[in-house]
Amino acid sequence: SAASIIDASIQVRLRSSLLLPSLFVWKRNMIVTWKESLTTCYVVCFSYVRRTYQLITSSVLSSPRLFGNPGRAALMGSSQALALWVVITHLLSLGGGFVSCAKPSFWPSSATHDDAGCLSWRVMVEANNARGWRTVPAPCVGYVKAYMTRGQYGRDLDSVMEQVSAYVDQIAAAADGLDAWIFDIDDTCLSNLLYYQAKRFGAYDPMAFKKWASQGACPGIPPVLGLFAALQDKGFKVFLLSGRDEETLGSCTSQNLESEGFSGYERLMMRTPEYRGQSSSLFKSAMRKQLVDEGYRIRGNLGDQWSDLQGENVGDRVFKIPNPMYFVP
Ligand SMILES: [Mg+2]
Repeated sequence: SAASIIDASIQVRLRSSLLLPSLFVWKRNMIVTWKESLTTCYVVCFSYVRRTYQLITSSVLSSPRLFGNPGRAALMGSSQALALWVVITHLLSLGGGFVSCAKPSFWPSSATHDDAGCLSWRVMVEANNARGWRTVPAPCVGYVKAYMTRGQYGRDLDSVMEQVSAYVDQIAAAADGLDAWIFDIDDTCLSNLLYYQAKRFGAYDPMAFKKWASQGACPGIPPVLGLFAALQDKGFKVFLLSGRDEETLGSCTSQNLESEGFSGYERLMMRTPEYRGQSSSLFKSAMRKQLVDEGYRIRGNLGDQWSDLQGENVGDRVFKIPNPMYFVP
């Protein structure tokens, strides 16, 4: 009868519509990027809407034609209930689809498109291609925080230390005591991560930084401390060279170094009034020249900024410690 044909038709459509959620789940597992997932959601959601419209037209609109025949009223009632159930289910699925579209974290965040862009930006920073930037790009603040705090920074730092150790194994300090190493301080020996995290990696703020540094509470960076001690054991003279202002931050810096285990170094060299306002690169070049003039041979140079490692008398080898938090010219 017409009634059973319509019922069968609705059953078939209902079964095919139930395939959509499973297709959606299957597609979700294939999703790699944010854009792709968004496109998939729109395609699937559109299918839902179309399928729902077909069901409404076939059940609700065709039912009045059957009205008046015994049993048709009951059929119409069941068809409408079925259509209503399908509409509600589809609306819920639709809502679910959009909710998962709006959640950027439903797939591991490391694979999102934005992260890929921020990884490229960080590589540009480390390779000294990106220069003169004042703040971490806004879309990369979360990425930089995750990089610094969830293990990758530590792993990269360990890799740098492996390279330094391989080099140190090949060289020996001469008996004259003139073989020297230069260590930068901020984010080489002592970490400012807590400060920059609190500032959300914003622009350099001299007053706020001075306040932070004067507390003398910067944590030491353990792998660098290990290298620092190993070099002294091997007979190298270690010089600490920092762009920090000597007059205002001299004593708290030396106390901070001492409390974090950085002791026994040859000299702490900080920015004196005559070098105020000069670029880090020029100031540090001038300081290294003084050492070379005194007869020291700079065998290695460790810093988190390229300005620590470029200019005059940089040393036989330079090693760059990762730092995507700020740029010092
Ligand atoms: Mg530094």
